[in-house]
Amino acid sequence: MPNSPLSVDDYRARVGALIPATPVTSLPVPDCLGLVLGEDLVSPVSLPPFDNSAMDGYAVRSADVAGAGHAPVELPVPVDIPAGRTDIVPLLPGTAHRIMTGAPVPPGADAVVKVEDTDGGVRRVAVRAPVAPGTHIRRAGEDVTKGSTVLRAGTALGPAQLGLAAAVGRAELPVHRPVRVLVLSTGSELVAPGEPLLHGQIYESNSVLLAAAVREAGGHATVLRFVPDDVAAFHAAIGEHLGRVDLLVTSGGVSAGAYEVVKDALTGQGVEFTRVAVQPGGPQGSGVFAGLPVVTLPGNPVSAALSFELFLRPALLAAMGHRSVDRPRVRARCAGELRSPSGRRQYRRGRLTGDVVTPVGGPGSHLLASLAAADCLIEVPEDTEVVAEGDLVTVLVVGG
Ligand code: AMP
Ligand code: MG
Repeated sequence: MPNSPLSVDDYRARVGALIPATPVTSLPVPDCLGLVLGEDLVSPVSLPPFDNSAMDGYAVRSADVAGAGHAPVELPVPVDIPAGRTDIVPLLPGTAHRIMTGAPVPPGADAVVKVEDTDGGVRRVAVRAPVAPGTHIRRAGEDVTKGSTVLRAGTALGPAQLGLAAAVGRAELPVHRPVRVLVLSTGSELVAPGEPLLHGQIYESNSVLLAAAVREAGGHATVLRFVPDDVAAFHAAIGEHLGRVDLLVTSGGVSAGAYEVVKDALTGQGVEFTRVAVQPGGPQGSGVFAGLPVVTLPGNPVSAALSFELFLRPALLAAMGHRSVDRPRVRARCAGELRSPSGRRQYRRGRLTGDVVTPVGGPGSHLLASLAAADCLIEVPEDTEVVAEGDLVTVLVVGG
């Protein structure tokens, strides 16, 4: 009598417990996209670091151009201050310095007249409008004060956060380092894209999909692509990677047939093979082999992809310090009828438009083109066998 299948939530927790948190390490800022900051980031500088001009124009004393509303005020222009000029040239009363955006405002000036309000002169300038003190000056420290915490530990680093880190002078950041994943595809029928196919052969695609999913989650993927359905070859393939990766993810070779190489190689070796009450992706395995956490995914491409989405992605994100690991969930009206096996949670591919979700393709776990056409997953609960057109369903927004 086979054991009853594990629930999706229980299996997700089992996989989550398998992958330890990665250590915090220092990485170059451009490599930190999508990673999580391991320590608070305190700024050693103020931003802006100095008072600077918000406009191309002329640095002036506002009092000198107070009459410009009635008739233009002409001032000599002794100095040009382009962005990047580092010497300090004070502004003398009755003069104007031509100044560019981002250039330091000279001592003595209290406003910038924008070039559009002048004749644009180089030696002398005619100012046509008065300015209030402080106009078009970006004050030192307006954005960031020196010594303040600009990013908290636990922040997921996107483009804006990386830009800020660079702006406060950081070349590296302490982050939870990427999980190193060995992605291994099994199957004697698998052929490299670009090679001719014989009858009975297919192009290997799971490792491409899974490695991309690992990278999208912020992990590092090493790929072993063509491991034949042979136990000795399987063990030989992973041997040299032991100790160098944090996780082994296999695809294929875990269902009920013969030649199930992953099952044959890892049964009784610390990996437990089990059924999960999910469709697609029922046959699963996980455990620790020779000190290496292992998750074995089924071979059908949509099963492998969905298993990654449901079980591995949250575990990888959590291991890399993310606090939010769930996809956004919304409720939507289903634009078609769906049938789902009782006792299993089904995930169907769909496209979401407003609050209507349209199923894409059937439930088959080989329908990769439907997966590629989808931008969401429709979650049909274990106790639902029929979703009628117009019923409300839960949708996981996965993008695409
Ligand atoms: P298996 O779980 O090994 O029985 O494989 C189930 C189905 O998925 C079979 O039709 C395999 O040919 C296919 N499959 C397994 N591995 C891959 C792979 N890496 N790329 C594409 N299809 C695969
Ligand atoms: Mg196989």
